[in-house]
Amino acid sequence: MARIIVIGGNFAGLTSALELRRKLGHGHEIIMFSKSPNFLFVPSLIWLPFGKRQLKDITVPLKPLAAKARVQFICSEITEILAKDRFIRCGDKDFEYDYLIIATGPEWIFDQITGLSLNSNVVVYRHSRNGAGN
Ligand SMILES: Cc1cc2nc3c(=O)[nH]c(=O)nc-3n(C[C@H](O)[C@H](O)[C@H](O)COP(=O)(O)OP(=O)(O)OC[C@H]3O[C@@H](n4cnc5c(N)ncnc54)[C@H](O)[C@@H]3O)c2cc1C
Repeated sequence: MARIIVIGGNFAGLTSALELRRKLGHGHEIIMFSKSPNFLFVPSLIWLPFGKRQLKDITVPLKPLAAKARVQFICSEITEILAKDRFIRCGDKDFEYDYLIIATGPEWIFDQITGLSLNSNVVVYRHSRNGAGN
């Protein structure tokens, strides 16, 4: 029996965990880690600042989703991956794995563009050929 660890509980991580369970059956252990307890429908984040959606409208708790698929869910941040020895570190706990899926998503590095730090209040507006801004 192999132990598969998935880091991330959103589009890539949750899909990986559920698809692995569906395709592999129940002969292998699947553990999904996410630092958030919820699946977040990221594309709808854009509606939050305009009050068109609330956070509860675009999030779904991961625990019942994982439980239904018999995927173990641990809501914790992975702080280290020690690939040579095949284990991940989560605070003061280590978890060994046979296979690891890293689905932690992108991270913005605003400071890479001069003037575009998080507190700069800069709005990037590009004018397209048909006149619509995006
Ligand atoms: C406003 C907006 C609109 C978008 N619209 C579209 C669209 O219309 N169509 C489209 O295809 N895409 C769209 N995207 C892009 C799409 O949302 C992303 O491509 C998608 O969210 C990436 O999914 P992911 O699972 O790879 O990463 P993420 O959604 O970023 O999820 C990362 C996961 O990893 C977890 N995680 C991260 N670090 C750790 C750690 N150290 N330990 C444990 N867990 C960790 C997080 O908790 C989270 O569960 C949009 C994005 C934005 C911001």
